[in-house]
Amino acid sequence: MSYVALYRKYRPYNFSNVVGQDTIVKILVNSIKSNHISHAYLFTGPRGTGKTSLAKIFARAVNCLSFKEDLCDECTNCKALKENDIDIIEIDAASNNGVDEIRTLRDNVKLMPSFCKYKIYIIDEVHMLSTGAFNALLKTLEEPPSHVIFILATTEPNKIPLTILSRCQRFDFNRVSTEDLVSRMKYILKQEKKELDENVLNYIAESSDGCVRDTINLLDQVISLNKGKQTDIRDIDRLSGKISTDVIFDILNCILSEDYAKLLTISEELSTQGKNLSDVVNHLLTILRDIQIFKQLNNYFDGDYKQKLSQIQINSNDILIFSKSLNELLTEMKYTNNQKTLFEIYLMHLTEIVNEKKEKDMQKIDELRSESNLNNTFFVFNTDNENNLNDNLELNNNEQGNLAFEKTIQDDDVQTSMFNENNKSDINELRQIRINNVFAGANKDELKRVQEGFDRINDYISNKKYNALVQVLDDTSIVVASSDLLMIKVNDSGALSIFNNNIKQIEIFLNEIYKREYRIVAVTSDEWTKLKEEYIFKKKNNIPYVIIDENSVKLEVSKGSQDIEDAATDIFGQNVVNIK
Ligand SMILES: [Zn+2]
Repeated sequence: MSYVALYRKYRPYNFSNVVGQDTIVKILVNSIKSNHISHAYLFTGPRGTGKTSLAKIFARAVNCLSFKEDLCDECTNCKALKENDIDIIEIDAASNNGVDEIRTLRDNVKLMPSFCKYKIYIIDEVHMLSTGAFNALLKTLEEPPSHVIFILATTEPNKIPLTILSRCQRFDFNRVSTEDLVSRMKYILKQEKKELDENVLNYIAESSDGCVRDTINLLDQVISLNKGKQTDIRDIDRLSGKISTDVIFDILNCILSEDYAKLLTISEELSTQGKNLSDVVNHLLTILRDIQIFKQLNNYFDGDYKQKLSQIQINSNDILIFSKSLNELLTEMKYTNNQKTLFEIYLMHLTEIVNEKKEKDMQKIDELRSESNLNNTFFVFNTDNENNLNDNLELNNNEQGNLAFEKTIQDDDVQTSMFNENNKSDINELRQIRINNVFAGANKDELKRVQEGFDRINDYISNKKYNALVQVLDDTSIVVASSDLLMIKVNDSGALSIFNNNIKQIEIFLNEIYKREYRIVAVTSDEWTKLKEEYIFKKKNNIPYVIIDENSVKLEVSKGSQDIEDAATDIFGQNVVNIK
């Protein structure tokens, strides 16, 4: 038996298996039931949304002798129309201007249907009719014989003369929802005894842009791959000619990591698959825009896509440079016979931009290392507000280049009131040195050891000396450890402030627990998220953390320092805490 395309095989025959278009179906069914049938209908909407299929169903339905909610499939007309649909006449206006057909139609409309109640003319792509044909059609529409129904179908209703439009009952077909398409595919798969993953079905539906015909045709191709549940999204991209988002992310990552070899391989693959490289460039631009949006509006995207966007390390400045260059490439591509070569040259050029900058950064670090005594050079990230950490991360790759460096802070400047609220910048400087240093010496085993011991603070809950600190440390965790430094994550800036006001006591307490001399630094959850990103970025780009000597900054508790009781009252108020 010859193979019948799924689209033909599963073309809806009754109202009940039309996909989407519920409202239109309902109105048509009711009009038949109440016998309010017009003589001219206009079905408009995007291609592949079921206009012609529904026109044919309607044509049979008006002729059904015992129509209830749907075709009865039993009456003489229903049976006869299955064999011979001589009274349903299809005219494709796209195949010629239709003048002859419409003239023949005019002559023939007067003839009675051969066996049905109604003779139905379905004129597909009606907007393609010539003016002459429209005029001929109009004459017929002005005085249609009672046994004739016209159904005009079009994707472009704006091209139809008003005189015609005004004589038709109009129905606007919508793109079919992903949900409806998926449920139709599930039905077909069940009939065909095939299986595909839900995410593959969703992807097919989304790739088809609400078009039933494209969806079923793509499903047909996917089934013929015979990979069943092994089918993945990339297979669908190959079949549909679409370029997968994953490939675009791969390209971007190749540019940022200077992976020329992989970049050329991807370009070769895209070219072999016959993909349009302008589409690739446009897709790259869209993703760059989305990364920029993600930087500003963290919750604008969700799910997998958000995750992917967050993994791309590119600063706003480079996004702009890349976009300009890609836009130029798009223009250039219009005037070349060798798009692939141009595509590769431009992408490799972007890689170079990234590369040069990184070299500049490394040079700067080397220069600073050699030109001055490291002990006197602070490596300062300004954290006056939390976002700055992120900005500084971007500075690493900035055009003016380079890391934010600041020269020596003299002992006298910082010795007093180190953790005084009034001296936030000094706290920040010491914090940033410690944050830097704990990352520089970060050690997984050390971290595991201190994390395991951290629970022991609870043994001190009823200890008069330390119980307030146990409460300060409640809901905190150690996130990075080196041999002499611990980074502790606290919830928010309020908790951070309390922590910093009592940092000396907390150190004493922890040293008591671990029987080791640790210095500590606290960060908020938000800071921690950014620091992690920064750490990954630096690792990836081989930018080292340079250990900075904090000896010039003495950890002194400020004048009027907080003692343990104060620490507790900070959080719980005077009356609650009772330390004797
Ligand atoms: Zn019937």
